[in-house]
Amino acid sequence: MRGRIIKGIGGFYYIRTEQGIVRTRGRGIFRKEGITPMVGDLVEIEVLEDGDGVVNAVEPRRNLFSRPPVVNIDCMVIVFAPAEPSPNFDVIDKFLITAESKGVTPVLCMNKKDLVTEEEAGELTSRYRGVYPVLRVSACTGEGIAELKAEIAGKASALAGPSGVGKSSITNLLIPDAGMETSGLSHKTGRGRHTTRHVEIFGLSGGGMLYDTPGFTSFDLSDVTEDELDACYPEICERLGNCRFDDCHHIHEPGCGIREAVRRGEIHPLRYESYIRNFEELKEKRRNI
Ligand code: GDP
Repeated sequence: MRGRIIKGIGGFYYIRTEQGIVRTRGRGIFRKEGITPMVGDLVEIEVLEDGDGVVNAVEPRRNLFSRPPVVNIDCMVIVFAPAEPSPNFDVIDKFLITAESKGVTPVLCMNKKDLVTEEEAGELTSRYRGVYPVLRVSACTGEGIAELKAEIAGKASALAGPSGVGKSSITNLLIPDAGMETSGLSHKTGRGRHTTRHVEIFGLSGGGMLYDTPGFTSFDLSDVTEDELDACYPEICERLGNCRFDDCHHIHEPGCGIREAVRRGEIHPLRYESYIRNFEELKEKRRNI
């Protein structure tokens, strides 16, 4: 049988198959081959006489994250707030680079839209205009949640972002059962309270699934070097043909089409500065290895 690992607890993996959820032990070929099955893996399993299964094979992964340890994500919803806490665009850009470098589609999602006017929200995110659409939602009022649901329908998604921006509140709206399963009822509200302690994949009512994790709170730039960074900024990537040199880093090379596009106002200066900053940081990191 084929299925997807939806959680791993206490030495067992739980696999969602067409016939329902099968509990399997993490033994079999893996000790020998050194493969550790991870949440999100598509696996071949065999069901034994006692009803438990064993995992016989893991299909090739599309991508892998180590913190939290998950694989095969299609879509990373990068959540931030316009205030309380105010947005940290360096962190947002690093999440964008993380997603781009791992072949995951990023979706920018401004939660707490109830705290600002439409105009203020638009101004805050003007650097992404024409590059990434920014969904505006409020987990408090429910505004924009239908649009978010439509955006992630049919995909394997995870919410990422610093703590306090409203990831748990949004999760509760997307998968109302999740809180019930993890921490029971909240006495105050009588509703499911959401405190995630392990990684678990939940099916979404509109199709697709949500990886509920205790924290996509930090970015992961392990898959990118400074030479590849330009491919992680769509507004730079689409103009790479305009540079005189193939290996242009867009910093001080002559005939650089990217700096020209910044001068003409086609690339937002704050995004160009973000590129330079991350370029220097990645270079520094490599030197220190
Ligand atoms: P997380 O740390 O990212 O999971 O954030 P939480 O979901 O725990 O939310 C952090 C705080 O922000 C809580 O006090 C929420 O009640 C509040 N919050 C969440 N969503 C909204 C929203 O849309 N508007 C406002 N004003 N507050 C919100």
